[in-house]
Amino acid sequence: MTPIHYVRRRDRVLSAVVDSGLDGALLTRPVNVRYLTGFTGTNGWLLVTAEEVFFLTDPRYQQQASAQVSDLSIVTTPRGLPKGLAEAVANSEVERVAFEPNHVTVILREQLEAVAEVEWVPFPMLVEKQRRCKDAEEIEAIRAALLVSEAAFQEVANGLAPGQTEIEVASDLELYCRRHGAESMAFETIVASGSRSALPHGVASTRCIEAGGPIMIDIGCKINGYCSDLTRMIWCGGIPSRRWLEAHDVVNAARATALETVGPGIAAIEVDAAAREVIEDAGFGPAFVHSTGHGVGLEIHESPKVSSHSDQRLEVGMVLTIEPGLYLEGEFGIRIEDLVCVTEDGCERLTTLETEPMLRGTA
Ligand code: ZN
Ligand code: ZN
Repeated sequence: MTPIHYVRRRDRVLSAVVDSGLDGALLTRPVNVRYLTGFTGTNGWLLVTAEEVFFLTDPRYQQQASAQVSDLSIVTTPRGLPKGLAEAVANSEVERVAFEPNHVTVILREQLEAVAEVEWVPFPMLVEKQRRCKDAEEIEAIRAALLVSEAAFQEVANGLAPGQTEIEVASDLELYCRRHGAESMAFETIVASGSRSALPHGVASTRCIEAGGPIMIDIGCKINGYCSDLTRMIWCGGIPSRRWLEAHDVVNAARATALETVGPGIAAIEVDAAAREVIEDAGFGPAFVHSTGHGVGLEIHESPKVSSHSDQRLEVGMVLTIEPGLYLEGEFGIRIEDLVCVTEDGCERLTTLETEPMLRGTA
């Protein structure tokens, strides 16, 4: 990301608050600070004003801040960021300043109030709204992270054998990602075999993979801070049951139908309804216990939600998962998850893996 990107993003934050009659914004949420500056440390705040942008951190991050945010006024204080904030406020003209109410603790709110020169005004989703639509560089980072996850899935699924534990499979997937450019995983890897696949978030356990059963793998990694998200189903050994194959077809049809509805101006709720209808019509309605998808970016789950209570409309540049599923307790669960990017004429499927179940060692 070039510095000019960050300048533009901060300008958009400033115009949003100025439009609301405020003269600055304090950003305290690390992921938003990263989005606006490129700073990857865990303790950094940003005070954006019309005259100047202050970056506040502690001495541990002095070197890193000089390298990553060299274009800003860096205020380093060993006595906590609120002290640095008071210093920055004293050096600026701000009176009414926005803060991020969803990420400010009660104690921090009290510390802000102690900076008496300023009236603090809650401004929910100030940066998250802007983060919904990705630029070309962000989409490329997501695509790169997805390609690594797909390759990890293929490599590990091809070598999968009964007797391995779910944790062994998860660690093989994670090692592959790390060795192929991922800086970290995007979330705890899900490897859920047999009846555990009916747990929508069945993170890998010590259970051994048995011959003649399903496995759900949900994997994502990060490149340049951006996440990927991928779910596929495997049947390991023997012939899959007819019921499982039929259920897989239903979920896959729901995925395809939802994907066809994605486009700019479409309400996210419509995309969810399209997937849900296919699963309901097949008689599995109550088994689809989660929403159809979510935005993906610097965070694995971000705005917009693709759910039955979403109030958002899709816009060009949004990157979303489409991941219908059904979960039958004591039997199995199925989820198929693709990543798509909303384009002028619909969407581009970023996922390249086929959606059919992978059959391992099937007679
Ligand atoms: Zn996932
Ligand atoms: Zn997901």
